[in-house]
Amino acid sequence: MRVAIVGGGVVGITTALQLKSELRNSNIEVYGEKYEDIVSYVGAGLFSVGKSFSGPSEEITRNWMNDSYEFYDEIRKSREAARAGVVEISGYMFSEGPTPVRNPWMESVVPSYRRVTEEELKLPGGDWKYGVYFTTIITQCKWYLPWAKRQLEQTGTKFYKRKLYNLNELIDDYDVIMNCAGLGAGELCGDRRMIPLRGQVLKVKAPWLKTFFYGNLDTYIIPGIDGSCTLGGTRNFDSTRMSPCSHETRAIHERCTNLLPSLKNAEVIESVVGLRPHRDGGVRVEVEKISNGLKSATVVHNYGHGGYGICTAPGTAKYAIKLARDAHLNTSSKL
Ligand SMILES: Cc1cc2nc3c(=O)[nH]c(=O)nc-3n(C[C@H](O)[C@H](O)[C@H](O)COP(=O)(O)OP(=O)(O)OC[C@H]3O[C@@H](n4cnc5c(N)ncnc54)[C@H](O)[C@@H]3O)c2cc1C
Repeated sequence: MRVAIVGGGVVGITTALQLKSELRNSNIEVYGEKYEDIVSYVGAGLFSVGKSFSGPSEEITRNWMNDSYEFYDEIRKSREAARAGVVEISGYMFSEGPTPVRNPWMESVVPSYRRVTEEELKLPGGDWKYGVYFTTIITQCKWYLPWAKRQLEQTGTKFYKRKLYNLNELIDDYDVIMNCAGLGAGELCGDRRMIPLRGQVLKVKAPWLKTFFYGNLDTYIIPGIDGSCTLGGTRNFDSTRMSPCSHETRAIHERCTNLLPSLKNAEVIESVVGLRPHRDGGVRVEVEKISNGLKSATVVHNYGHGGYGICTAPGTAKYAIKLARDAHLNTSSKL
């Protein structure tokens, strides 16, 4: 199968990796308008989805979660873990109510998940009524993406820096086109459900911190593997402003140091902004046939992961590849 992947972010690169391991003989080429300064590099990469995360059905979403966790956990247990930036981490999620923080997706996928004790509810930062403590994985794209690209290059995958204006541009050269263009998919295939969900975070140095914390108002503290720490955050619906807002920077710092006073001494590295590829109705993983009158190709869309693209990319990639395989076999058998 000759496959083009559109998108050089975590979804595109992970789809390429999964393809290479499942279909060794496939010929893969990746097209990305940009490989740096993309949203995949902004987030901390914590494996944690919200309760509302959803695929086309409960069963498929559960498979996405399980396959994703298994994918990263295998890297974590391998000799490549440090090079790939994949490590285990534990931490707290607190809430002042009115509803408990329990999250069925996370509860069923991570190795340990429990309610916090009365003693732990006394931790600073809020009048905590509920809380959970769990162990999960962090995938830092600063390491993971270059590592994954190296694996792909060693097995013959080619990368092109090019902006596509229409998926038809690839029809003549490929059997299957995987559309992993993130927010860019909105323009590329006219999907008006794609909306930027702006997020701003602060990166600080806090090498002593090994635990993550989540509090109210999108307040979170996530230590990285290199002594840096991501302090968050914000969610601005339909905003495309890429420069950091100084009011938000101050607010994030204040909220996070209330949650964890020891951060007052942490040196601030930078404020960063990213646009989450949010899609009304959930992630799109679907097949479409395109044709230019002379030739047709199978497109498999795989975009719209919102605030959970790093952690769920392996699962949606695996599902997208199954759809591509079925559609391709179907087409070939008709020829
Ligand atoms: C503040 C913040 C914190 C986050 N924290 C987490 C977290 O802890 N855990 C988590 O799982 N997720 C997190 N996320 C979400 C995560 O970053 C995204 O879901 C994920 O990076 C989306 O990846 P992507 O590959 O779809 O998009 P991108 O990284 O944007 O990649 C898209 C690629 O497609 C290319 N492209 C687009 N249009 C075209 C075109 N027309 N032609 C050619 N190429 C094109 C781009 O150049 C790019 O290479 C966070 C996001 C933010 C903003």
